[in-house]
Amino acid sequence: MRVLSIPMRTRFRGITVREVALVEGAGGWGEWSPFLEYDAATAWPWLACAREAAAGDWPAPLRSEVAVNVTVPAVDPERAHRIVLDGGCRTAKVKVAEPGQSLADDEERVAAVRAALGPGGAVRVDANGGWSVEAAVTAIRRLDAAAGGLEYAEQPVATVEDLALVRRRVDVPIAADESIRRAADPYRVRDLEAADIAVLKVQPLGGVRACLRIAEDIGLPVVVSSALETSVGIAAGLALAAALPELPHACGLATVQLLTDDVAVTPLLPVDGVLPVPVAGAPLVDLAALDRLAAPPDRVAHWTARLAAVTRGGRP
Ligand SMILES: [Mg+2]
Repeated sequence: MRVLSIPMRTRFRGITVREVALVEGAGGWGEWSPFLEYDAATAWPWLACAREAAAGDWPAPLRSEVAVNVTVPAVDPERAHRIVLDGGCRTAKVKVAEPGQSLADDEERVAAVRAALGPGGAVRVDANGGWSVEAAVTAIRRLDAAAGGLEYAEQPVATVEDLALVRRRVDVPIAADESIRRAADPYRVRDLEAADIAVLKVQPLGGVRACLRIAEDIGLPVVVSSALETSVGIAAGLALAAALPELPHACGLATVQLLTDDVAVTPLLPVDGVLPVPVAGAPLVDLAALDRLAAPPDRVAHWTARLAAVTRGGRP
């Protein structure tokens, strides 16, 4: 196991440095990067995902590239327009429901994003659970009009019960993101008919094969997303996206640029809106980067103890 400490470009999730562990096995490298506050039980599926990757135990890909979205933070319309043009993607995810901002701010941002994408692009909004049910119903209708049609609205409200209520009152498809954190959650989303689309992340849900099973069980279209990972973690997300029988929406895997540095020989950054699916067995990790980004000894000791705790008692 190698522990790395990578500064981020901007604060995200309240952190400015991302600590990740990479584990090496017979099939290559896997990323184990549960956030620092997670306990052993929560961090266990993340380790299962890393071990699956390190064992080289991924299903055969059905596609060689995966379309991804550019993410537009809660910025002003001019900046939003620029981010979309620079991103080169055909799909944009626009952050909305930012505290301190108004629905009019969101409408202007969404309209600017549509203008930049043109009529053929897809605009989705992500409220990160920031609205009440009533506010969500109003906002989704108005943003759908401002966007000239939304692809979907992601996590408009915080709970799965409220997602189900909103979904019954709007025509725009609803995606569940924060409502899916553990392996049991997608089934609850399905049972309550709370979403039209499931956002799945391979590390918290226990790996590529576990996510494929979930996708098959719940019968919803999947958008594969990342958990603020290096290219090694993104490769696992791409392995899932490449193995899904159907992939109707662009994935949220264009996140390597949130970090100031990366471990890959060729970082998994999008070109013309797509990421290449890494070829099985091809070297992904640049060994010089492992030295350059090595965490200090006290942090390595922390992760070594964490690994022991998760291996010993994390499995639920
Ligand atoms: Mg989201």
